[in-house]
Amino acid sequence: MSSADKPSHFLQNILAEDIAKGRVDSIVTRFPPEPNGYLHIGHAKSICLNFGLAREFGGICHLRFDDTNPLKEDQEYVDAIMKDVRWLGFEWSDEVRFTSDYFEQLFDWALHLIKSGKAYVCELSADEAREHRGTLTEPGRNSPWRDRPVKQSLERFAAMRAGEMAEGSATLRARIDMAHGNINMRDPVLYRIRHAHHHRTGDAWKIYPSYDYAHGQGDAIEGVTHSICTLEFQDHRPLYEWFIENLPVPSRPHQYEFARLNLNYTVTSKRKLKMLVDSGIVDGWDDPRMPTIAGMRRRGYSAAALRSFCDLIGVTKADSVVDVGMLEYAVRDDLDKNAPRAMCVLQPLKVVLTNFADNLALEAGNHPQRPELGTRAVSFSGEIWIDAEDFREEANKHFKRLVLGKRVRLRHAFVIEADEAIKNDSGEVIEVRARIIEGTLGENPADGISPKGVIQWVDAATAVPCRVMNYDDRLFLDANPGSGGTDFLDQLNPDSLQTIDTALVEAGLADAPAGSIFQFERIGYFCRDNRAGGLVFNRTIGLRDGQGKTSS
Ligand code: ATP
Ligand code: MG
Repeated sequence: MSSADKPSHFLQNILAEDIAKGRVDSIVTRFPPEPNGYLHIGHAKSICLNFGLAREFGGICHLRFDDTNPLKEDQEYVDAIMKDVRWLGFEWSDEVRFTSDYFEQLFDWALHLIKSGKAYVCELSADEAREHRGTLTEPGRNSPWRDRPVKQSLERFAAMRAGEMAEGSATLRARIDMAHGNINMRDPVLYRIRHAHHHRTGDAWKIYPSYDYAHGQGDAIEGVTHSICTLEFQDHRPLYEWFIENLPVPSRPHQYEFARLNLNYTVTSKRKLKMLVDSGIVDGWDDPRMPTIAGMRRRGYSAAALRSFCDLIGVTKADSVVDVGMLEYAVRDDLDKNAPRAMCVLQPLKVVLTNFADNLALEAGNHPQRPELGTRAVSFSGEIWIDAEDFREEANKHFKRLVLGKRVRLRHAFVIEADEAIKNDSGEVIEVRARIIEGTLGENPADGISPKGVIQWVDAATAVPCRVMNYDDRLFLDANPGSGGTDFLDQLNPDSLQTIDTALVEAGLADAPAGSIFQFERIGYFCRDNRAGGLVFNRTIGLRDGQGKTSS
């Protein structure tokens, strides 16, 4: 189904109605990552949704870094996130925003809440506060600090800001209702003391706002109309609305929730992905096995494929687990249509063509269904390499490759017939002697003995060696890594990377730009690595579902 005739999802309906009924003049959304790691496939869903809705409804989308936790945040992540959003094909409106730019305003609004009796400085320890909070079935108890005079709270809050109070010694809490059925409404924390260096504000602040307090107010400052988040925040919505009701904010945003993307065989938590990076299990955030946008890009997934995957899975309010096969389908579908073809031999076996001493530049089409992708010259001389798997001394009729006394077609070149296998002392075939059948360039043999199969090859005189990084489709063996109290690190696939150093590719690929993607005919899709020196190709994905998995 194309996106044109796809039924609209619930958020599209809400936005359309809000515009039709005049509830908003124009749409403003935002994508609010915390810069504490690289973006992953789940974020891609949120990016496509937020930027996509803005685009669809002629509105705008902001990129806002939710940088309220100085301990985990870093400029490296800010830069990587901006690069990833742009690479996915989206551009934010105006400057990038940072919640930290609103710290002064948020502080003023906190004073406003204290002065109107709606917030107080609480000096319970973390353990005591937890103990006062109650449970899902039992109401909480009021903090002994709840009714302290406004003036005292203002003084203590000033002392918190000035760095005069130790971390953990006090918090600023909203004064709502300790018996509220929704635990988020039981006097939630607005500010914590943190004597930490912030990647943007440096040492200016000794207190940092909570997500719940900062988020909605950031939305209001920016004039966000539809603040879209994942379902975990559904229970926080009453608090989001409480702040908007009780503060003199310049606009009235609304929060909407949708189901986060869960993918089987995949970890989508920055915390867990960071563990893989920090422990050296993978080669950085952009390791091609990582479900990060940077990793998928390095592996050869295109932005268009990721967008079409996000389109395919849709937007709902029902939590579910998407089969990673759908992502692979979107990637393969895109590459099949767009990746130019090329030839590569992974385990080379020399074939000497005893009746051919010439040098030819053969013309090879870059894509079988798309002539507009042009052709390239492929050199052909008396010695070529084929894949060792494509030769057998004897075989039954199901083996449609090269066999002694039988014929095979070389892709884009001649039909050849094998005469003799040369072996080493251990009896292994180290070379094949064969003949070309004259007149078979683009033609069937005149004698009517046509080959059953076609194999890829490279010219021995010009082929270039390369390294192939063969990534198994999965980093994890378990469909749901870390489920049922298990450790996700125990479920790593030990064979998720095999390095092949014997491969040879046709000469034209020596200059392929980093990031360019090819279908190596009969093998799979490969992307020239964007980081490694030398000629390195990352295996993006196999030609068919299930191809190339470790188990097969
Ligand atoms: P993580 O658990 O990986 O740290 P997060 O939600 O803490 O994710 P943020 O940087 O806060 O990470 O996320 C930015 C935005 O991306 C949020 O609006 C969040 O709802 C959304 N998002 C995060 N993970 C997913 C997911 N798996 N599916 C859809 N949206 C997601
Ligand atoms: Mg978050």
